[in-house]
This record gives sequence, C-alpha cells and structure tokens, in this order.
Amino acid sequence: MTIYKAPLADFSFLFDRVLRLDALSNVPGFAEASGDTRGAILEEAGKLSEGVLLPLNESGDREGCRYDAKTHSVTTPKGFKEAYRQFTEGGWSGLASDPDYGGQGLPAVLALAVNEMVVATNWSFAMYPGLSHGAYSAIHTHGSEEQKATYLPKLVAGEWSGTMNLTEPQCGTDLGLIRTKAEPQKDGSYRITGTKIWISGGEQDLTANAIHLVLARISGAPEGIKGISLFIVPKFLVNADGTLGARNGVFCGGLEEKMGIHANATCVMNYEGATGYLIGEPHKGMRAMFTMMNEARLGVGLQGLAISEIAYQNAVAFARERLQGRSLTGPKNEGGPADPIIVHPDVRRMLMDVRAFNEGARALLLWTGLWGDLEYRSSDAKTREKGGDYMALLTPVLKAYFTDQGFQSAVTCQQVLGGSGFTKHFPIEQFVRDARIGMIYEGANGIQALDLVGRKLAQNGGRALFAFLADAGEVADALVARPEFKAYGDRLHETRKFLEDATKWLMENALANPDHAGASSYDYLYLTAYVALGLVWGRMVLAARKALDEGAGEKAFFEAKLVTARHFFERVLPAAQVHAVRAKAGADGLMALAAEAF
Ligand SMILES: Cc1cc2nc3c(=O)[nH]c(=O)nc-3n(C[C@H](O)[C@H](O)[C@H](O)COP(=O)(O)OP(=O)(O)OC[C@H]3O[C@@H](n4cnc5c(N)ncnc54)[C@H](O)[C@@H]3O)c2cc1C
Repeated sequence: MTIYKAPLADFSFLFDRVLRLDALSNVPGFAEASGDTRGAILEEAGKLSEGVLLPLNESGDREGCRYDAKTHSVTTPKGFKEAYRQFTEGGWSGLASDPDYGGQGLPAVLALAVNEMVVATNWSFAMYPGLSHGAYSAIHTHGSEEQKATYLPKLVAGEWSGTMNLTEPQCGTDLGLIRTKAEPQKDGSYRITGTKIWISGGEQDLTANAIHLVLARISGAPEGIKGISLFIVPKFLVNADGTLGARNGVFCGGLEEKMGIHANATCVMNYEGATGYLIGEPHKGMRAMFTMMNEARLGVGLQGLAISEIAYQNAVAFARERLQGRSLTGPKNEGGPADPIIVHPDVRRMLMDVRAFNEGARALLLWTGLWGDLEYRSSDAKTREKGGDYMALLTPVLKAYFTDQGFQSAVTCQQVLGGSGFTKHFPIEQFVRDARIGMIYEGANGIQALDLVGRKLAQNGGRALFAFLADAGEVADALVARPEFKAYGDRLHETRKFLEDATKWLMENALANPDHAGASSYDYLYLTAYVALGLVWGRMVLAARKALDEGAGEKAFFEAKLVTARHFFERVLPAAQVHAVRAKAGADGLMALAAEAF
C-alpha cells in the first residue's frame, strides 16, 4: 500500500519562520493568506491529496487512458472524472488566479505548496489542471480583453482545460522548424492546419471544452523562430453569449504508449483547418508561449520534488519494517531475528540524501515562488525587478536540478527496498517510471542549462547573478558569525566562490569558442543549484536555531531540521567541487572525436 502524509509541519516552518509570509501582509493577496487561513488551506489540500488523489495513483497507472478512433475521444482512468469534479468544486484550480476572472487571488507561493501535495499523490492527474493554469497565464498576460473575458473564467473554474501545443514530429527543442500553418481569414481569425505530437491532456473526458494554445506559422512569415505565432484553438467554438458552439476542426489522432504517467493522455493532435485566434502580435508567439513554458518549467521542477517526497516516505516505512542483518554497533531489535535495515549507515546515507534534497528543494521552490509573487504584486519597483530577475535565473535551475534529483531520489528509494522496489507489490517502480519524464519535457534538462548560461546569465549585465551571489554571501556570513555553524558558512562561501570562478571562466572563454559555454553549462547549472540550496539551508538553520532558542513548541521538528542541515552541509554540498572542476574543463576534450569515431 502506498503511504503519503502531507508535509504540513514543513510548510508552516517555511512559511511562518523562514519566508515569514505574515510580514508581507501589505502585499496584495497575502493578508488573505495569513497564518490560520494558510494552515487551513494546506490542511484541506493535504486531505484531498491523501484521500482522493492517492487512491487513484496506482489504479490510474495500471489502467491508463483509452482512445476511441471512431469518435477521436479519450477516456481517463476510473475515478479521475469524479476526482476532477471534487478538485474544481473545491476551488483548487483558481487558488492563485485573478479575482476579476473568478480566482481567489491568493499568493502563487501557496499554490506551489498545494501543488506539491497534488503532484506527489497523483502526478498524472495533476498535469490536467496544471497545463490549464499555464494556458490561463498566457492568455491573462498576452490575450486581448475579449479573449480574457471569453476564456479565463472557464479556465479558472476548471470547466474548460488548457493545453500547450509546440511539438511536431520534426521539431522538439528546435521550434524554428515548426510547420503548422495559419492562414488569415476575412473575419480576423486563422485556419490552422498541421500535426502536433505528445500533447499532454490534448483530449480527455474531464472538461466540457479544451482551449489549445498552438504555435503555428502565418503564411508568408519569416523562416525560423522569428516567424512563429501563438493561437487559441478551442475544441468547441464559443458563441457570443459564452455558450459552446460548433465543433472545431481539431481532433485527437491517437495516444502515445509510454514509460510512465500512464493516466495522463499524451496525444497526437491533428489540426484540420481549425479556427484559431491570434494571441498578441503576429510572429511574436514565442514571447507569449514563454509565459506558459516558464510557469510549466517551475511546475515540472516541482514534480521532481513531489515524487522524491512520496518515494522517501514509502522508503522510510519499508526501512523501519524490513528486518535484515544486525547493526554494526550491536543488536537494536534484540527480541527479533534481525534489526530493521534503518539501523545500517548505508541505508541512512540513502534516506538522508533524499530527505536533505526534499527539505532543501521545498525551501528553494517556495523561496523562488515568493520572488515570483513579488515580481507581480510588490508596490516597490526594485523588489519587482529583483523578483523578475530571480524567477528568470532560477527557473531553469529548478527545472533541471529538481527533476534530475527527483528521478535519482526515486531510484535511491527503490534501492532502499532492494528487490521489493523492483516489483509491482510496492509503488516505487511506478515513481521511477513517472519521474523520468520530468528530465525530458518542457525543454530537456540540457536545454535548461543552455538557457541559464546562454540567456539568463548575461541579461541586464548579469544583474540577477550578482544579486544572488550577494544574497548567498550574506547568509554565509550569518552562519560564520555563529561558532556552531561556522563550518556551514565556510562551505557556502567556498561554493559561492566556485560559482563566481566558473562565471569568470565563462566570460573569458565562451565568446572565443561558444562550445566552451555548451560544455560548461550543465555543471554551471549544478553549481548554481548548490549555491541556491546552500542559501536556503542556511536560512533554515538560522530559523530552526532561533525557534529552539525561543523555546518554541515542536522541539523535535527543529532539532531534526538541524540534523538534516548537517547532512546537507557535510555530505551533499561538497559535491559542488566536482562541478567546479568540470565547469572549467572546456569543450576541447568533448569535441575531439569525429562523429564517425563514436
Ligand atoms: C510524455 C510527454 C509529454 C509531453 N507533453 C508535451 C506537451 O504537452 N506539449 C508539447 O508541445 N510538447 C510536449 N512534449 C514534448 C517535449 O516537450 C519534448 O519531447 C522535449 O522538448 C524534447 O524534444 P524532443 O523530444 O524532440 O528531443 P530533441 O529536440 O530531439 O532532443 C534530443 C536530445 O538532444 C538534445 N539537444 C537538442 N538540441 C540541442 C541543442 N541545440 N544543444 C544541446 N542539446 C540539444 C536535447 O537536450 C535532448 O537530450 C511531451 C513529451 C513527452 C514524452
């Protein structure tokens, strides 16, 4: 049986003591999410996740989605429709959305915490409303007033879904190769023709309508990425009074059979002269789509954390029960035939690695998410600017590092279970299969690293990175100032220096040979992730120490936090050194073999 308990104590530690949300009550939406309300919302989301979504995770994986070629329809697994009804009726789809369109206007950082629980208990399910929210954001930011009025209230309510249509058979990473055509019509609409593949939730039976956001090329548009525009293509056209009209010419042509996330429909979508409406300006589609993609990238990073958390909880339960061998320091279960495997240091190593990732990643996700809120909601221009800078800098880092580690965590937890982890009697093999896609979709992780090094780093003369290094330096100083945490502060300073040196190395070498930037980028992204994790772990250490000094309740929680912090600084952060060396190794060795010599 799969277990999951919502990490509510960790959420309140982070919101109350580390991010101190209550001090932000002057920021719009934050007063409505103050202490008790926040706690109640998270508790309810925990109940929905544990009670409604978790029971459908394994059955959804076994059953998968079904396609009917006659009607081009897709049936989601048993129970999904009812769960989706409960999800939308509970208002979860509009938690952080604009109240002008029926949303609750709560901070997006709160929605991230809710989403962690929803994804942990049912990744496949979570993708349906997750992509709808991405479509909501793209239309909200770039759509006309009429488009917003037509589509947003239904997306916010979850009555209609949203999808993201970029990929075509010949184009994945390189969207300049898109062939889907858009022909202008006299009434201002466009006729969209082409085939999209691997479209998540492209067809399903959960919502009355689907709003497809589609990248296409207007006839006569410039070649490559500069000729791409973004269109709204509803499954059912919408009448002037908001009711559903004629069926549009977009049909699901089949489902992909795949390694994991079986309960999420991955669809071929055929656009057969479908009516589409341009969002924003012609040929500026990538700008608008990036709103959706950036949100989705943070959401995918979150998936890595979420799967790691549920894998951890199940591995811990197993390690407490499974009796094998004796503790190296003498029996701990004297009456029994053997000790539980949790007594063995090597099993501890695995569990502590995953635990330290989960707690650090949760803090980093919420810290980043808070900057995202401040970017849009703060009344202070400098804070808004910093919020935008941090979101831009950290989104590719979280997407790639969290999904790499999420998959690694699932595999590590599988290892804790030994052979049982490989069988279907336990849920971890599903977690391993589900986790793998996070590293691939929404831009493969290597592409995130290129985005960081090639675009984000240099933006505004490196302003985001310099601010980030300064913030990390301040946290390191605060740790050094306390003798008991001096070693942690020194380690963070050292890691920060690695990142500084790697940045200098890039500045000196990448222009002369761009392959150096490409060769360095992955390790550079890891170095950034380590500094960011060091920064948030430093803040957690100081907050937990303060809570203990004040004699706050839940002493065991704060003490455990300090133990996990110790693991992070002693055994996780030193790995940054390897990346520091590799980030400066250059491209010559990588590029030396001719392609035919491989
Ligand atoms: C289950 C699933 C769901 C999906 N959902 C959606 C969806 O809802 N909407 C949608 O539009 N798409 C979706 N996708 C597509 C997904 O986003 C792409 O698979 C992904 O972006 C990678 O593209 P690709 O598979 O064509 O790989 P390719 O672009 O062929 O890349 C293959 C490898 O080469 C590397 N590579 C490629 N170009 C470069 C370069 N210039 N420099 C360095 N390395 C490079 C990549 O990092 C990757 O490792 C989904 C895919 C799957 C499998």
